[in-house]
Amino acid sequence: MYDYLVVGSGLYGATFAREAVKKGKSVLVVEKRPNVGGNIYTKKEENINVHVYGAHIFHTNNKRVFDYLSQFTTFNRFTNSPVANYKGELYSLPFNMYTFNKMWGVTTPDEAYEMIEKQKKEAGIGEPKNLEEQAISLVGKDIFEKLIKGYTQKQWGRECKDLPSFIIKRLPVRLTFDNNYFNALYQGIPIGGYTKMIENMLEGIEVRLNTDYLANKEELNKLANKVIYTGPIDAYFEYSLGNLEYRSVRFENETLDIPNFQGNAAVNYTDAETPWTRIIEHKWFEFGKDEDGNDIPKTIISREYSSEWKVGDEPYYPVNDEKNGKLYEEYKKLASLEKNVIFGGRLAEYKYYDMDAVVDAALNKCDEELI
Ligand code: FAD
Ligand code: UDP
Repeated sequence: MYDYLVVGSGLYGATFAREAVKKGKSVLVVEKRPNVGGNIYTKKEENINVHVYGAHIFHTNNKRVFDYLSQFTTFNRFTNSPVANYKGELYSLPFNMYTFNKMWGVTTPDEAYEMIEKQKKEAGIGEPKNLEEQAISLVGKDIFEKLIKGYTQKQWGRECKDLPSFIIKRLPVRLTFDNNYFNALYQGIPIGGYTKMIENMLEGIEVRLNTDYLANKEELNKLANKVIYTGPIDAYFEYSLGNLEYRSVRFENETLDIPNFQGNAAVNYTDAETPWTRIIEHKWFEFGKDEDGNDIPKTIISREYSSEWKVGDEPYYPVNDEKNGKLYEEYKKLASLEKNVIFGGRLAEYKYYDMDAVVDAALNKCDEELI
């Protein structure tokens, strides 16, 4: 008998398992994939850590979480500074003085401010009612047309007029020459890859890969007093109330026999015609070097295509609309009746969780559960 059966070896499961073992509990982790790590899994190819389920950049203001993960890895000095490519014109992101200079030729913050104000006034927008109005009132018409409109429509599969304004509010707008996409105090990529970090978290803990809990539920339940379930909540209840929906992404990977494809980890294609939203060149998360500090001769790129999700696809982003919100609440009621099961993480809580928030949530659960 184990004290805990942890279902899923993503960040939530790995954090819980580590802390439980630290408190003297016995733990078994089951993972249905052939590898640990969940969606932060990185696979080493051509000496490059490829972010298999989408690019992951760790960033947080939470010192507790940063210190916690730093026990298992050292974060490198990577700073996220994506570049926007609009029909061959390159712009700095997030929107800052470099962007405004390239767009309008302005050289001072005052000139940039005046330009944005002028374009706002011309557009005649009062209280923004949708993403298009919100974007124009933040950065003006030109930036909306070239850097936001096409990208957003591709990403969300809807017109900017039909999207809520809050989506764009989190994008920083700065009248300084600061290309750092995040405002976070701590930022970086684990040296050696995310998989290595998770393996360190799970060191000495029994992990059974290729094991689907739901397909072996009865038998596995007999092995432990309590279950920590980090898989999809609707799957746990056999979709009895219907499917929760997701927005999906498709990745097309290519290995190229050249050392440098785009000179940056992320380039966003912001026009409407290019079918992909962005291209990730994985080696630049680690400055193009292998573990011994040598330059890597090849490169691996991933083109990202945003897509509608259908049953059976990999679940990526929860859909935060009323219909799915209500359905989740119904599942949550069922979950509260499962006395020996804790539902945690992005799939079991049907929540868009950044990595730091997932670790924070798992640590808080540990404080409550592990005495
Ligand atoms: P997961 O990583 O999904 O782990 C759940 C695990 O449970 C999986 O391994 C799964 O195989 C396993 N499982 C499911 N069902 C079963 C079952 N029945 N039996 C056994 N095992 C099962 N966050 C950031 O902070 N920065 C970023 O840049 C960032 N980029 C992202 C990009 C994309 C495309 C996406 C989708 C998310 C991104 N995130 C980012 C969020 C980040 O991925 C999550 O915070 C994190 O992966 C959540 O960890 P988790 O343990 O909750 O879930
Ligand atoms: N966005 C954009 N152009 C860009 C990058 C982002 O218009 O080059 C918009 C887009 O609508 C996106 C939102 O800003 O959904 C938030 O961007 P962020 O990079 O935070 O999105 P994420 O991919 O993390 O959801």
